[in-house]
Amino acid sequence: MKLLVTGGAGYIGSVVAAQLVEAGHEVAVLDDLSTGHADAVPAGAAFVQGTIAEAGPVLSQGFDAVLHFAAKSLVAESVADPAKYWTGNLGGTLALLEAMRQAGVDRIVFSSTAATYGEPERSPILETDPTRPTNPYGASKLAIDTALTAFAGLYGLGAVSLRYFNVAGAYTARDGRVYRERHDVETHLIPNVLAVALGEHPSVKVFGADYPTPDGTCVRDYIHVADLSRAHLLALDACAPGRHDIYNLGSGSGFSVQEVIAVCREVTGHPIPAEIADRRPGDPAVLVASSDKIHRELGWTPDHPSLKSIVTDAWTALPKN
Ligand code: UDP
Repeated sequence: MKLLVTGGAGYIGSVVAAQLVEAGHEVAVLDDLSTGHADAVPAGAAFVQGTIAEAGPVLSQGFDAVLHFAAKSLVAESVADPAKYWTGNLGGTLALLEAMRQAGVDRIVFSSTAATYGEPERSPILETDPTRPTNPYGASKLAIDTALTAFAGLYGLGAVSLRYFNVAGAYTARDGRVYRERHDVETHLIPNVLAVALGEHPSVKVFGADYPTPDGTCVRDYIHVADLSRAHLLALDACAPGRHDIYNLGSGSGFSVQEVIAVCREVTGHPIPAEIADRRPGDPAVLVASSDKIHRELGWTPDHPSLKSIVTDAWTALPKN
């Protein structure tokens, strides 16, 4: 298939682009490089620098489907500057959908998020549970999911949204190339903890130890980026005209911040000092996915379900002095 990967110079988009190339697809990456890196675009994929609002001319070259990763994804930034998220994520995606319609491209796989659920009522979270996002980032992604449902019903679009839980780890492609997380502003737990083991920071901050969880720290569901990426290839095959399907993507088990730090200590052999800090606004206590639906309907199961293998791959991929 001929596929357009928006945001394919970012962490998750570049891994998916690499797996699509490996699967024999013809891949073009569209990325404005606002947070991505041109050198993350896999060899074998074409690269176009531009925003999703400018996708029209690219799409008119003829594509079978779009895999849409390009987005702003910092929760705190979305609270401070919501317009950037509504314009960039929702406005940009509506322009992309319109350009797809004009070019006759009728399939899309979309990066949605656990943040669409907000503070969940129960764990694990099912796709049918209430969606009440607690920040503009989650709200903008939920609005896109809503638009996709409407476009599927109105125009026969085939769409799949994958609601990611906590993605981590690194991917080694068949050509030996390693794809890893490289954010200029790093907010995620595992890279922040590993940065302490690398000596880049003296300690890691634990955002809140007074949550209603066994050790008082937040519980999250960590999924290996290679497993997450593989789900996109299944989703692409499952895109059916007139349908919008939504799937959660996690490993199905929860680990607390303290448990993650303990696994990082074990993997790196570094003591990794941790200090308790204030809660981060908007963090739910527990976010764990039920991934039963994608397992049942698309046959997806994680190859790397253990947190230790996720952390080991993230650690091995980091350049060390
Ligand atoms: N967290 C932390 N210290 C950090 C980064 C994150 O304690 O330096 C916590 C954060 O409050 C949350 C969990 O780790 O409870 C996972 O956060 P992350 O930003 O990785 O993902 P999120 O769940 O927000 O998508």
